[in-house]
Amino acid sequence: MQVNSQFQENFLGPLPVSKDDYQQLLEEIKKRSEQASDISGIFDEYDHKPYYFAKEEDLIIGSLPSIRDAARLYVLFDYLLSEDKAHFDRNKSYQSFINGGNETIIHILHSIAHGKPVEPEQNIEVDFIKGCFYKIKKYFLENNKIKDIRGASAILDYLNTEATLEYLDREYIKECAVYCGGGNVLIISPKGEGEKICRELELLYTRISLTAKNAFAYIACSVDDIAVRYNEIQGMLNNQLEERKRLKLYEINPDNDVVEVQIKGKVFKFEGQEIDQRGQVCWLCGIRDAKYKIPSPDGKINVCPSCLRKNTVGRGKAIFYDEFEKNQQIKMKKRNEINSIDDIEDSRGYVAVIYADGNNLGNVVKNIKTPFQHMYFSRKLDHTTKYCVYSSIYEVMQEGSAFEALCLGGDDLLIVVPADISFDIANKIINKFDKAFDYQITISAGVCIAKSSTPIQNMFSISQYCLKNAKKYEKKISEKSGTVDVVVLEGGQTTDPEHRASTLFPMTAKNAEKIIQVIKEMKGQISTSQIHKFKYAADHMSVNQFQLFYLYQVAKLNSRKYTEYLNKIFDSDDPSFAGLVRVGDELVSPWHDIALLWDYSGGDKEWNR
Ligand SMILES: [Zn+2]
Repeated sequence: MQVNSQFQENFLGPLPVSKDDYQQLLEEIKKRSEQASDISGIFDEYDHKPYYFAKEEDLIIGSLPSIRDAARLYVLFDYLLSEDKAHFDRNKSYQSFINGGNETIIHILHSIAHGKPVEPEQNIEVDFIKGCFYKIKKYFLENNKIKDIRGASAILDYLNTEATLEYLDREYIKECAVYCGGGNVLIISPKGEGEKICRELELLYTRISLTAKNAFAYIACSVDDIAVRYNEIQGMLNNQLEERKRLKLYEINPDNDVVEVQIKGKVFKFEGQEIDQRGQVCWLCGIRDAKYKIPSPDGKINVCPSCLRKNTVGRGKAIFYDEFEKNQQIKMKKRNEINSIDDIEDSRGYVAVIYADGNNLGNVVKNIKTPFQHMYFSRKLDHTTKYCVYSSIYEVMQEGSAFEALCLGGDDLLIVVPADISFDIANKIINKFDKAFDYQITISAGVCIAKSSTPIQNMFSISQYCLKNAKKYEKKISEKSGTVDVVVLEGGQTTDPEHRASTLFPMTAKNAEKIIQVIKEMKGQISTSQIHKFKYAADHMSVNQFQLFYLYQVAKLNSRKYTEYLNKIFDSDDPSFAGLVRVGDELVSPWHDIALLWDYSGGDKEWNR
C-alpha cells in the first residue's frame, strides 16, 4: 500500500500555522526562557508546533520539523561542533537557538530537513546508535502476579527513558538522544563514542533488569549521510542491531551487587533475606535459582534476584495508572483495589486479554526521510496508542475503571479488562486508532476471554494466536480497517484455538461494531437462552438438521425477528434464511459469534460496580 502525501503532512510533522501565530509562538518561548532555569523543558510543550527556517524553500520532504525537535537537534549539533565538550553549556545553546541561532548550525538543520547535502566544511563525522529491548513480553510474563508484571514494566520504562537520559547527560548531553521510548533508543554521538555507548548502555540495562533482553549497535556516518541518506542509514543500523541480537548471549542465573534503584525520585531497595539452601527454583518465575526469601501475601517465598527486583519495584509503582489518570484527567476509584487479575473479573468471573499492534507500519517507516520525521512520528504513534487505550477504557468504565496494562507504548498494547465489556473496549481502541491515522495505519487485535484464574501466560499465547489471525485477515482484505479475532475459553474447553467452533472471526472492527449495534437492538427483544439454544444446536447438528430445527423454532415462536435481525447483521434480505450464513461454498453458523458478542459487549450502560 502506498502512503499518500497528505499522510506525511499530518503524521510525520506538525500542521502549518499562520505567520502571525508563528511570531507569537516565538515571542512566548522567548519570554518563558528568560525566567526558566532549564530551557529544554519549555520546548517539550511545543512538540506539535512547526518550526520555520528564515529562508524557506519548497518542502521537498513534505513535512515541517516541530519547534521542539528543531531546538533539540540545534543543541545537539552545537555540541557536536564544539571544541570544548566538557564545558558545553546547554542552556546557552538553547538561548542562542531562541535568538535566531548560529548560521552554520541552522544551515545543517535546513539541509537535514530538506534532504539536501551539507557544505563540505560542515560535514562532520558522528556515530549513530540504536538500541532496544526485545522479547519484552517474555520478561513481563514470567509469572502471574500483577504487581511483579507492574514492576517489570516500571523497570523497563525507567531504563528506556530516565536512566538512558541520565547516562547521556553524565557522559555527553541529553540531546544526543534523538528518541527514547516504547522500548527503543536512537542516539547520535560524537565520532568514536558508539562502541562505548553500546557497551555501557547494554551493561546498565542488564545490571538493573538482570533478565530483560536488550541490544545496542552503532554505525559511523557523516552528517551528510544523515541529511541525504537517512533511510538507508536506518536500514544499515537495523541490520547491525539484528546481528547483535543474534550473537548476544545471556547468563542463566544473572546476579550482581546493585542494591537499589531510584525511579522518578523514589528509592527502591532490593532487600531480601539470603537463603542458606541453594538449588531451589524461584517461586515466582519457576525458571531461575532462588536466592532470597521475601514476604508475600501467601507467606514467605523464595525468589531469584530478577524477580526480587520486579517484586520490589512493583510494590510501589503502577506507571500505567499514573498515566491513565493524567491522560483522562480523572481519579481512578479502584486504583488501590486492583491487586490481582481476579480484581478485574466481570460478574461471571471472566477477564479478557487484548493484544494489539499496528498494521502497515513498515510502509510508513520506509517513507521516513529525516530525523525530524522520525522524532515526530515515534512520539505521535506512542501518544495516539496510549490515548486510544485510555480514552476507550474511560468511556466504557468511567471512574470505576478496572484494568491492567501489561505493556503499552509505540504501536503495541497488551491489556487486561473485564470480559463482559471487552468487545466495547477493543472495538473503540481499533476505531479510534484507525481514525487518528486516517486509515493509513490501522491496528489489529487478538482477544482471549477466560476465567480470571487462567494463567496469564496461556491467555497471552492465545491472544497472540488471535492477533496473528487478525493481521493475516487484514492483509487479505481490500478495505482499510483494523481487524479483530477472538477465542473464548469456556470451562472445560480445550485450549487449542485451532479447533474452535465455526466462526465468522476474524472480521474488521467496523463489521464487529455493526454486529454489536444490532445485538444491542436485539437485547430486550430476544432472549439470551434462545440465542444459546441456536448456538448449541448448530454445534451439534448437521447442516440440514439445523436448518429444519431453526425454521421449526422460529415458526413455533411465531417470530420474524430472528431472521430480520440476522439479515440486518449480514446486510441481506433473504426471506428464506434458515439460520446459517453462506461464506464461500460453506454454510456457517453465526450463533457462536452472536452469543459471544452478546455476552462480551456490555453496552454503554454505566459501568460502576
Ligand atoms: Zn524468578
